[in-house]
Amino acid sequence: MNSSSDLPNPHQWCAVVFGEHRTAMFDIRGQRRVWQYVPPGIMSDPVWLLDHTAALFERSGPDRHAEGAMIVKHVPLYEWGTDQRPVERQLVEFMTRAREGGWESTDAALRHKSGWVTFSQHGKPTVHMGVLEAMDPERCELFDVSWPAEDMAEQLARYTNATGAVWRSTAGVAGLSMLRRWYTTRVLPGGKQGGQPRWQWSEYSWDKVPIDPGPPGDLVWRRLMTAAERRRGYVHAFDINGQYLAAAAAAELGWDAPVPVGSYPFDPERPGYWRIVARASIKYGRGLPDTLNPTKIHSNGTAWVTTPMLAYLHERKIYPEVIDSWLSNRRARILRPWAERLRDGLTFNGRPDGHPDGCNCPQCRLRNALKATYTQAIGLMGASSAMVVRPDWADTIRDLARINLLRKLYGAFDQHGYMPLRVYRDCVWYADDEPNPAVLGAALGMIPGRMGKFKIEGTWPMAEYLAHEAERERKRKERRGQRDARS
Ligand SMILES: [Zn+2]
Repeated sequence: MNSSSDLPNPHQWCAVVFGEHRTAMFDIRGQRRVWQYVPPGIMSDPVWLLDHTAALFERSGPDRHAEGAMIVKHVPLYEWGTDQRPVERQLVEFMTRAREGGWESTDAALRHKSGWVTFSQHGKPTVHMGVLEAMDPERCELFDVSWPAEDMAEQLARYTNATGAVWRSTAGVAGLSMLRRWYTTRVLPGGKQGGQPRWQWSEYSWDKVPIDPGPPGDLVWRRLMTAAERRRGYVHAFDINGQYLAAAAAAELGWDAPVPVGSYPFDPERPGYWRIVARASIKYGRGLPDTLNPTKIHSNGTAWVTTPMLAYLHERKIYPEVIDSWLSNRRARILRPWAERLRDGLTFNGRPDGHPDGCNCPQCRLRNALKATYTQAIGLMGASSAMVVRPDWADTIRDLARINLLRKLYGAFDQHGYMPLRVYRDCVWYADDEPNPAVLGAALGMIPGRMGKFKIEGTWPMAEYLAHEAERERKRKERRGQRDARS
């Protein structure tokens, strides 16, 4: 080793390593963070690198649940700068050579261009390797690809402290792997291995499962302001703290996959989908959003809803006819431990005072990554992710979030006559004469800092809000004009 290679060289740093052992989900027995600036050439042997990395995690003997994340700046094959091939070609060579040493990998990184490859070998900890050069910086919530090695390692460690899970690939993939790990590693009292829900609704596909259009889901709604409202002094906005996380914790989900049951009488204990005769989108009152989503009602007047939505209609003494159903037999709050762990992680990692939206500091990045962990994971369940294919879970969570929001809006209307101006998913806007938003907030059951409850999002003098809306409308028309001009 010559003297120049003893110095950190930002172009040649190699591994940021982080690992953990645990006996059960969320129970971190030990973790290590290591970062090294390595002289040119030493990283050129993939098998050596993976063996070396895995050995760092094997402090107390091999643990089949141990895994670690490692970040490298470039594909560790040759001295940086000497390999001119595209990064994908370099990764293929790395994977081929790793396989010769017993390290299996999938080609997900090549297909999804996430920059992450997972290497596994029987009896050794799993190593998730991220290559900065191959990553899309926009798709990485947790860190900035330009950070130095030691900051990366610290950040990976912070994420694991907050979630009990190892960061890998994207926030959604990390979230799903965190969920599965809870069920694969948990041990029931008495030492028995706990059961697992069905992760893959393998029969699911649009041609075989006729749930179209899907259930109501997100609430996106707006109405015109009345002249009286325009004369009010203020507009207040409120948003729900962790709307999906609260719904995920509370949702009763199907343990087994839904099967076609037909026109079965409604049973609130069976999770799944019900096709009802909706006729209308089900009004609550003038100037309020509908209970169902008008765009999700079939032209023949029927609509698919999930179990909590039909239970909610029954609660309101509305008993639509059920003409078809896809139901699971057994229900459980499958996502509860996962959602509570993420809630605690968010509680202990609040946004530092005075940091703006889009702040790039490690603390704000971590918070964004924690939020993305559950929003993306729920989105992936409903798409065709490799790890969890349960669109029924995602749909049930979205319907439950909608119901929880509607209850608050309808309640504020019933008790105080408040009518929202617009709703966008977890955020709601109201016109009000009262300058202090807390008064209206109280009618909405606001509890700042509590998951599933409203907090104040913002407050504006009416003139400012109207100017902002006018500008928004102008831009919308401009975009539409450009579209029309193109077509
Ligand atoms: Zn910040």
